[in-house]
Amino acid sequence: MKICKIYEIEGIVQGVGFRPFVFSLAKKYNLNGFVFNSSSGVYIEAEGDEEVFKSFESELQNSVPPLAVVDTISIAETALKNFHDFKITKSAHSKSKNTSISPDMSLCSECEKELKDKNNRRFGYPLINCTNCGPRYSIIRTVPYDRVNSSMSGFKMCPECEAEYNDPLNRRYHAQPISCPKCGPVVKFHDLNGFSTQDSPLEKLAHAINEGKITALKGMGGFHIVCDALNERAILSLREKKRRKTKPFAVLFSSIEMIKEYCDITIEEEEALLSQIRPIVLVKKKKTCALPESIAPNIDRIGAFLPYTPLHVLLLEILKKPIIATSANISGEPIITSKEKLCEKLSSVIESYVDFDREIVNFSDDSVLQLIGKRSVFLRVSRGVAPISFKTSYKSKEKILALGAHQKSAIAIFNDSNIILSPFIGDLGSVESIEAFERSINTFKNFYDFTPSLLVCDKHPNYASTIWAKKQNIPTVFVQHHYAHILAVMFEHNINEEVLGIAWDGTGLGDDGTIWGGEFFLCALKEKERVYSFKPFKLLGGEGSIENIDRIAFSILYPCKQNALAAEFLDNFSHEERYLLERSYEKDINAPLCSSVGRLFDAAAAIILKQKKVTYDGESGLSLEALYDKNVQGRYEIIINENDEIEYVYWFLKMLEEDPVTAASKFINTLAALIIHIAKKERKKVVLSGGVFQNRTLLEKLIELFEKEHIEFFLPKNISANDSSIALGQIVYMLN
Ligand code: ZN
Ligand code: ZN
Ligand code: FE
Repeated sequence: MKICKIYEIEGIVQGVGFRPFVFSLAKKYNLNGFVFNSSSGVYIEAEGDEEVFKSFESELQNSVPPLAVVDTISIAETALKNFHDFKITKSAHSKSKNTSISPDMSLCSECEKELKDKNNRRFGYPLINCTNCGPRYSIIRTVPYDRVNSSMSGFKMCPECEAEYNDPLNRRYHAQPISCPKCGPVVKFHDLNGFSTQDSPLEKLAHAINEGKITALKGMGGFHIVCDALNERAILSLREKKRRKTKPFAVLFSSIEMIKEYCDITIEEEEALLSQIRPIVLVKKKKTCALPESIAPNIDRIGAFLPYTPLHVLLLEILKKPIIATSANISGEPIITSKEKLCEKLSSVIESYVDFDREIVNFSDDSVLQLIGKRSVFLRVSRGVAPISFKTSYKSKEKILALGAHQKSAIAIFNDSNIILSPFIGDLGSVESIEAFERSINTFKNFYDFTPSLLVCDKHPNYASTIWAKKQNIPTVFVQHHYAHILAVMFEHNINEEVLGIAWDGTGLGDDGTIWGGEFFLCALKEKERVYSFKPFKLLGGEGSIENIDRIAFSILYPCKQNALAAEFLDNFSHEERYLLERSYEKDINAPLCSSVGRLFDAAAAIILKQKKVTYDGESGLSLEALYDKNVQGRYEIIINENDEIEYVYWFLKMLEEDPVTAASKFINTLAALIIHIAKKERKKVVLSGGVFQNRTLLEKLIELFEKEHIEFFLPKNISANDSSIALGQIVYMLN
């Protein structure tokens, strides 16, 4: 018997070859009807013999194209229409915009083959792409994802491209950014004096790099600053010009073999490097690594990644050596996406650049991850991953916009049971960043036809996101920072019961008005109770002066000034500085109470490494890790006082006596042991989040102990432990 069925499919189903996939399935099963992209996903009507539908539906769900992610399929039977064939029809516009936007995709192997094939018409074409690869999120202005709604709308396809575009059996069928040397965007080399040419632009860029010059290259979600990774002089000059003293630079290698020449990588790291996301992966430098130390001073790892655009492939084919490729921006600001901004902001850094005239509509940085054993841990969720959408079972009429925190900003929305988390935006400390933050909100509003009925933000009144929320005249809910950290991870793992939530980070405003960041909560979806915390110390100079890590050590040791070693440490400060710090301490001038573990790492680095300042977030942790020795099994004593506060001053006094390796190792061992100690007391599942849990050594130690003690624990999975997942936690709070 003949029947007709309607399928409505939601998920990442646009721009990933889904309709051609449906088309060929329909042909296979002799079904007639049509398929089109709706604003909520893909819509199919198909009629044919009743008995084939079971297999058709099974393939429809289980054999989808590589980049597609099906969240839901709704199926209904309808009246017979007597279709004569199966067609792919025009996209329809409906009210609700629910389809997930695919992240940008790295160059696929078929396109790479064509890129290198002299007989292919796209041989050497630096913007080659297909349905399985190339830009998505970065070029979309609005949904549905069609060429007219993307930054390719201004480029008219040549007849050959158009034929490929319209042929359902071609691998470029409806590949929206399809182009070729005849009809596509043009790649140009520019210097900063106004000279520009489209004649062998990548050769010219390679030449400049070989000469030790600092240049820039337009990537997928923004520009990279690039220079020769083997040229120490170029790297030092880049550090000076960018005023970036020690923060590590990422290195782009041409192949996995080239990475292996310089680094020791595990199988899991190799898989991550080669994955479709093409993230920056933190890997161990070889002892004999020929890369200059200045790429990542005092750290035994580097951030390595592989080419993910055809431009990268072509450039590295000429250069045959690794290059520094770091996001083009002013420190803390979002990545630069236009040549105008590039010249305006970085004219004192770069001398030349390569650009093309396909506009980057939505920016994204490179995603960053590290592997702890087999477990991958995201340090930054962006290109290739975000926007991330989560299908939930939550039902709410509210349209919720979550504004995240302040540093490592990212936003999230809740719309018709979907939660969508944006790529990493940046730190909201500059006008540029706040503009980018607002742009991201507008992009989301536009993509998802979304007008928020409810805002949710951090409790901290001085966060730019909170200040922005208060100006909107929309009902707003404020969520405690560390609670949001834990809720995000509970959501990811679908945990509904009460857990021991451990949130350790740099800073976040606590319920009592002090600065938290060493939290042990009994945490349910509706409420939390703070059960343990670190004994607060005075943060001299306030949150604004946290780069002066020696002041944190001062504050911790000052009450012990009778102790000879503590006195000696305090004597290292100049008279003037000591006077100011003492006054601040004694009179409580600009000395808020703080109990953050991130700051304890700073104090430890100040004492152990005799370091006064840090220049980037997480530096203290990285330098202590570099000292860590597995053979040091010892640790400091764990003391919890009658107020359920962890006492740690004793640890720091001990550190003053010990050699750096022992002290750093014992410090990390102690923190891990403390968590195990409390987890054993509370006997609950343990959920961990917050920036401190990006510390590889601490995590390794913890995982080892959790496994030994058979304690069930949960870490962030596809989100990062830092503040860019706060927005997700804020939404989860609102939905419970
Ligand atoms: Zn491709
Ligand atoms: Zn063409
Ligand atoms: Fe945080």
